[in-house]
This record gives sequence, C-alpha cells and structure tokens, in this order.
Amino acid sequence: MKRRKTRMIKAGPLTFGSEAPIIIQSMNSTDTRDVAASLQQIQQLQQAGCQLTRLAVPDFTAAKALAEIVRYSPLPIVADIHFDYKLALAAIDAKVCKIRINPGNMKLNGGLKEVVQAAKANHIAIRVGVNAGSLKPAILQKYGGPTAEALVESAQEAIAMMEEENFTDIVLSLKSSFPLLTIQAYRLMAKVCDYPFHIGVTEAGTLREGTIRSAVGIGTLLAEGIGDTLRVSLTADPVEEVKAAESILKALGLSEGLTFISCPTCGRTEVDLINVANEVEKRLESIKVNAKVAVMGCKVNGPGEARGADYGIAGGKGNYLLFKKGVTIKKIPEAGAIDALIDLILKDKASEEAD
Ligand code: SF4
Repeated sequence: MKRRKTRMIKAGPLTFGSEAPIIIQSMNSTDTRDVAASLQQIQQLQQAGCQLTRLAVPDFTAAKALAEIVRYSPLPIVADIHFDYKLALAAIDAKVCKIRINPGNMKLNGGLKEVVQAAKANHIAIRVGVNAGSLKPAILQKYGGPTAEALVESAQEAIAMMEEENFTDIVLSLKSSFPLLTIQAYRLMAKVCDYPFHIGVTEAGTLREGTIRSAVGIGTLLAEGIGDTLRVSLTADPVEEVKAAESILKALGLSEGLTFISCPTCGRTEVDLINVANEVEKRLESIKVNAKVAVMGCKVNGPGEARGADYGIAGGKGNYLLFKKGVTIKKIPEAGAIDALIDLILKDKASEEAD
C-alpha cells in the first residue's frame, strides 16, 4: 500500500511521517505524580514494543514529577494537556518531546500562543488532539453534533493559529469512539493538509471489543495509507494496547515479527488443536522471532498452509507433520508436536544469531 505523503516531524529521537516507519504508542495508566510506578510501567511498555508513551498532566505536582520521569524514562514522553495552558508550559520545562493539546477545551489565543512559542524555542512537537467528545460548543452547534467536518474544523482552527506563529511541528489526531466517524474524519483531513497523523479510535472499550473496534478503524485507515503513529485505546493494561497495535500492523504487513496462523478446526480435526494452537502462540510470544508459523488441523488446508509458512505443523490421526519452508521434516506423535515445533524454531534462531 502507498502511504499518504506527509511532511516529516521530529519529536525527540522519533520522526513522524510518510518516510518513517509507523510508530506504536500508548498511554500510561499510572498516576504521573507516582514517579516510580510510572517508570515501572514505561519499562513494561518498552519491553512490549512501545516506542512512545503519553502521561496525563492534571496539575503542577504531576508536571514536576514529569521532569523526573523524563530524566529516567527509556521511552520518549508526551505530555497530555487539557484546559490549562500553563501545564503545557510546565511540561515543556520538563523536557518532554511532544505535548498533546485538545483544541476543544483550550482557548486558541493568549496562553496557547505562548505554549506554541515555547515549543518552537525548545524544538518540541505538538499534537493537536481533537476528540469528538470534547468539541467546542460553537462547532457542535454549527454542525449539529460531532461530525467528521466538525472534527476537521476544530483541527484546522488550531493549525491556523499555530501556523500564524510560524509553528509547523504538528501531528494531528481526530478521534471518535465510532470507527466509521473516525475513518471519515481522517479521510477528510488527509485532503486538506500534509501533517502526519496519530490515528486511533478513542475510548474503544474493553480488551476484546476495543481491540476489534480499533482494528476496524485503524486498520481501514492504514490500508488506505493513512496514519503515521497509532495508539489502540483500551480499558486494559496499556501493554495490551501495544500488543494490539503490533497485531494490527502485522496483519497489514506493516511490521515484522511473528505471524501466527491457525485453523478454526472442524469435523475433520482429529487432534487437540485449540489447546495446541494456544500453547504454541503463548510460547512464541516470549521468543522474538520474525517468521510465519502455522498450526493446522488436518491435511485439507493444513499441509498447504503449513508449507507456505516458515514453520508449521498439520494434524493427522494422533500425530502431526512438521514442516519447514515448504519441506516436510518428519511425522511426530501428538504429545511431542509443540516441543518439536518450538525446538526447530529456536534451533534456527540460534544459528541465525551465531552467523
Ligand atoms: Fe478443518 Fe482441516 Fe480446515 Fe482445520 S485445516 S478447518 S481441520 S479442514
């Protein structure tokens, strides 16, 4: 797929835009005032593959703690600012790499101009984070509700103010909790500007439902080449957001890593495939492997899929065939299938790393 052409924006060590890889981000669920807990969660996010995390800055105690977090964080930090422009100034002092402002709950003149000037002087990017749930009353009235056009106008107002100040280190988001509205808003915005997009479906829901809603919204946009950084918003541990983001990118061939394929099982299945597939997936999670692995139930599609994968097993009656890159390696009794598959992957990984 062809990425939407954007200008390139730098934020700390990261670059956002069509010439750079798509960045996975998340948001801490910790209280920013608790530095130790926040840093611990940032560590977990980094280990899961997160590249950038955002922290809420609800007051000046949090802004002060943010400086400490930035100093020790293994990940670049974004400050999430609402209502009070002075908190944005404090976050800039804390040396975050980006701040997120919500044009729906901040006045676009006066204080915010000061924020833009400070961001410019400190080489800090700003995300204009429009949210369907917090649009200004005047915009809501004009469009009769939070429509795609209303989201775009809210973003455009903020961009116009920043451009007047000669500030263009802008990343944009236009989120709604409805995937279709989110998709429409980004499509519309893509026609009128070339700033990089942070994409996501906001308040998407709990782990299962939220992952699906996000995959629909984010996946549709990415398939159209729209999106330069993504956050999956889940009512769950933020590590799950990172895992979901990775899966979405992998499903579209936009990132490397493990691609796991398993069949849904049917009346032909003669092995305990569901448990085997779950166990293989779980064990592969801890092995950082860049491969396509297939766990199939029978010889109908099994050997075909398994042979098409880098590694695979296909079930028979009480046994499995083990495949590697299209070649049948051997027949293994059902009880030893998982170990045989994992051992084969580990052995190859070890010899690749030794090369
Ligand atoms: Fe059924 Fe075989 Fe297809 Fe699995 S691979 S769903 S067992 S036909």
